[in-house]
Amino acid sequence: MYWPDVLYCREVDAMTEKCDTCIVGAGIAGLNALFVASRYLSRDQRVILVDRRSRAGGMWVDTYDYVRLHQPHPFFTAGNIEWTLGKAQEHLATKNEVLDHLQHCLEVIKRRIRVTELFGCEFENAEEVGGMVRINCISGEGREIEIEADRLIKAYGQGVETNAPLELSSTRARSVSPDYFDVRGPEMQASDAPVWIVGGGKTGMDTAHTLITGQPGREVNLVAGPGTFFTSRDRLFPSGASRWYKGELTSSAFTGMARRFDGTNEAEAMDWFRENYGVWLTPETGNFLGAYLSEAENDTIAAGLNEVVMGYLADVVDHDGAAEVILRSGATMPFEPGSWVINCTGSLIRGENPYEPYTSASGRILSIQNRSVTIPFPSGGNAAYFLTHLLFLGKLTQVPLYAVDAEDLRRKAPQLVMVAAFGSLQLYNLSLIAEAVPGGQFNKIVSQNGLDFDRWFPLPRRLRASVRFILTHKRDREHHRRSLDTVAERFGFRGGPVVGAGRV
Ligand SMILES: Cc1cc2nc3c(=O)[nH]c(=O)nc-3n(C[C@H](O)[C@H](O)[C@H](O)COP(=O)(O)OP(=O)(O)OC[C@H]3O[C@@H](n4cnc5c(N)ncnc54)[C@H](O)[C@@H]3O)c2cc1C
Repeated sequence: MYWPDVLYCREVDAMTEKCDTCIVGAGIAGLNALFVASRYLSRDQRVILVDRRSRAGGMWVDTYDYVRLHQPHPFFTAGNIEWTLGKAQEHLATKNEVLDHLQHCLEVIKRRIRVTELFGCEFENAEEVGGMVRINCISGEGREIEIEADRLIKAYGQGVETNAPLELSSTRARSVSPDYFDVRGPEMQASDAPVWIVGGGKTGMDTAHTLITGQPGREVNLVAGPGTFFTSRDRLFPSGASRWYKGELTSSAFTGMARRFDGTNEAEAMDWFRENYGVWLTPETGNFLGAYLSEAENDTIAAGLNEVVMGYLADVVDHDGAAEVILRSGATMPFEPGSWVINCTGSLIRGENPYEPYTSASGRILSIQNRSVTIPFPSGGNAAYFLTHLLFLGKLTQVPLYAVDAEDLRRKAPQLVMVAAFGSLQLYNLSLIAEAVPGGQFNKIVSQNGLDFDRWFPLPRRLRASVRFILTHKRDREHHRRSLDTVAERFGFRGGPVVGAGRV
C-alpha cells in the first residue's frame, strides 16, 4: 500500500503498516528522537510519527497564545537544526514562532529520511512479538491502525495538558484559563476590573508581564502559593561581549548545586543556587521548576503588581451581597465583583500515568515520560536526544541509567527536593553515557545537541567546562548516586538504576 507523507487518521481505514522506527509524540522530545533516528537510518528507511494532536509542536500547539520561550530561541530545537527567524539570539520566541520552527525541523529531517506523519491518532498499546514491536493506534473516528516496527520510541515527554478555569463558588468572579482566554483580547481590554493571577510560576509571570505592560495602571494581584524563584536569564545567558567573562555555564551551575546536595539538604542547595543564579519577587520562594526570567522582567512585574498574596487560593465566595477571596489558610480578602481570576496554577508533572521503565528488556522500546525520568533538563527533548542515541547504538539496556519516578516524587516531596535531585540525576546519567560511548562519538553527539545551553558561551569557556567534566565526572558520580539513593529512601519513591525491565 502507498502511504502519502502526511496522513490524517480520519482518512485511514483499518490497516497494518511496517516501518523501521515508530515515534509517538511530535513535541520537542519526539522531534529530537526523530532527528537522532535520521542520523542512523538510511534514506529508504521509514519512520512513522504518531501524535494525537493535529500537527507537530506538542504542548505549544494549544498552550496560551502570549507564551514566550524563556530561553534564547536557538536553544529550543531538534538536534542542531538552526532557526530561520533572522532575529537576534536573545529574542524570546512567540508561540507561533516556536510552532513554525518545530514544523521547520520536521521538514529538514524529512530531507534525510522518509517520515510518515500520522496526526490525530492515539497510541493505544504495543507488544514485542518475534523480534519486532506491534503497535496499536486508534484514529479520532475509532478506526484501528496496526504498525509493525523494529523499534518504538514513546516520546510523551512532559505530556503537558491545558488547564481549565478554576471552579469558584462566586457568581461575581470571572474565572478564566490562559489556555482558552487571551488576556490581550477585547473582553479584557474593555474591562477595568481587578485581576487576580493564581500561581506564581512561569505562566503567572507571563500573564502578569503581559497585563502590566499591555494595560499600565490596571490592578493586577498575584496569589503566589509558596512563592517561586526563577533562573536569572542575565546570569546564565549574559548578552553581547560579556559572555566571554560574565555569567555562568548552565552545566557549571548545575554541577555546583549537585555537589552541594547530599540527599537531605535541599534547602541549602537551593539557597546556594538561588543566591548565585536566581531572581524572584515574592518574599518566600518554596518553588523552583527551572523556568527563566530576566532581572528587567522581574522588576517590571514587581513594580506593576498591586498586591502579592502568599498562600493558596481555596475559593471566591459570595455573601451578604459582597464577595471575598478565601485562602487555604482560612484568611479572607475582599474581592471586587466582576474581577478576573486567571488560573496559572501550572501544568508540569500533573497527570497520573501508569508506571513504565524508560526501556523494555530487549531495548527495542524507549519511553520518555515522567514516570522514569533520566535527563530532565531543559526538557523531555534532552532525554529523547541522548537515549535515542543509546537505542540506535544498541546500548540502551547496557547502561544502567538512574531513573526517577517524577510523578511519585512530586506527590511525596516538596518541589525543591525534586529539582535538587534532578540536578544530581542529570549529571549522574550524563556521566554514565560519557563512559559508555567512545570519546569521539560522545563529543560528536554533544556537539550536535542544540538543547545544550552551554553553547551560548564562546568555545574557550565551553572547552574549560568540558575538561573539568572529563576530569571530575566519575568521582562526582558516586556522590550523585548516594544523594539520589538518600532521597529515594527518605521519601520512599521509585528510583534507581534500570537495566532492561529489571533493576539493579
Ligand atoms: C506553559 C509552559 C511553558 C513552557 N515554556 C518552556 C520554555 O520556554 N522553554 C522550555 O524549554 N520549556 C518550556 N516548557 C516545558 C515544556 O513542556 C517543554 O519544553 C516541551 O515543549 C515539552 O515537550 P515534550 O515533547 O516533552 O512534551 P509535549 O510537548 O507534551 O509533547 C508530547 C506529545 O506527545 C503526544 N502524545 C502523548 N501521548 C500520546 C498518545 N498516547 N498517543 C498519541 N500522541 C500522544 C502529545 O499529544 C504531545 O503532542 C513549558 C511548559 C509549559 C507548561
